[in-house]
Amino acid sequence: MTCRKCKARMEQLAHIAHGKRKFRCPKCGKHRMQEGKAKKDRKARSTKLDH
Ligand SMILES: [Zn+2]
Repeated sequence: MTCRKCKARMEQLAHIAHGKRKFRCPKCGKHRMQEGKAKKDRKARSTKLDH
C-alpha cells in the first residue's frame, strides 16, 4: 500500500473489522482504509458449511 499523494510506503496501523485494514502515510500523515477479502471469506465459509 502506497500513498497516492506522495507515493511513500504507508505503514499499517491495525486490523479492523471484517478484514479491513488501516494505513497511515509517514510523510503526509494521511490515513487510508483498505478493504480485505470479505467475498473470499464468505466463499470459503460456504464451502466449509457444504462439507
Ligand atoms: Zn502521503
